[in-house]
Amino acid sequence: MGSDCLFCRIVAGELPADEVHREPGIIAFKDIHPVAETHVLVIPERHIEDLRQLQEEDAPLWLRLAQVANVVAADLGHEEGYRFYVSVGSAGGQTVPHLHIHVMAGSMRRLPS
Ligand code: 5GP
Ligand code: ZN
Repeated sequence: MGSDCLFCRIVAGELPADEVHREPGIIAFKDIHPVAETHVLVIPERHIEDLRQLQEEDAPLWLRLAQVANVVAADLGHEEGYRFYVSVGSAGGQTVPHLHIHVMAGSMRRLPS
């Protein structure tokens, strides 16, 4: 994908992001419009449009994305729990068509629409 995908550009370092975690294949960075005290997006480096594009061979990647969500929440002091959600497609509220997991914790101002 690349240049016309916002999150691919963040992965490539072409756009700044407040990164909280990076490892081979996955990055996590703060949401630019947080709706919770902690609001981080965990994304695969590879361009995957949404959850529906995941294939059998992506099972390890999906597991690791979930584990990184756990790690990020714990690193930011939310061992007690957090909200994990994924919007799927524009009808599901997805505004950036590059798979991402929202990690939200602490006081939440509103639920995302
Ligand atoms: P969605 O609406 O697709 O579930 O989530 C997309 C999220 O990406 C939104 O919460 C939005 O605030 C966030 N976002 C959009 N553009 C940027 C950006 O340039 N940088 C960062 N860090 N977050 C962004
Ligand atoms: Zn992308």
